[in-house]
Amino acid sequence: MARKTKPKGPRSVECYLCRHALTVDAAALSTTCPGCHRSIVLEDLVLKKNRPKLVMVSVLQTCGRLVVPKGSRVVAELVEANVGLEVLGHMEAKLVRSGGAVVIGKKAYWRGALEAATVVVDPTAVIEGAQFHVSGANATSANHPS
Ligand SMILES: [Zn+2]
Repeated sequence: MARKTKPKGPRSVECYLCRHALTVDAAALSTTCPGCHRSIVLEDLVLKKNRPKLVMVSVLQTCGRLVVPKGSRVVAELVEANVGLEVLGHMEAKLVRSGGAVVIGKKAYWRGALEAATVVVDPTAVIEGAQFHVSGANATSANHPS
């Protein structure tokens, strides 16, 4: 749980509002996008186990990661976590987008469409009414000779 690594130096992110690529300080929690001049969230959103039990929002977006632990529920219209997404609890959204890896863990519940680079689904997870678009682009390092 206390796994908060604070890497130093700048990192590259993509604005989830306008897709503008920008470089930010690794420790920055939010910034104003130079592309659309709107405030965007950069920090990882890691929900605490059972607190709050239910997150009900229209839009949940970050340039970082989103972690939904066991016992937590997210109900949203749109969820976007550019770096990656880990669901061990309950995820219900019209659309979930991630430019990174999505992990749907043990006994997790998922309902909704997904657009992601990669997705790993635990065999015990429950998926309902979902349409998955997995690009796989740039997500796996090609070990095989081409
Ligand atoms: Zn922007």
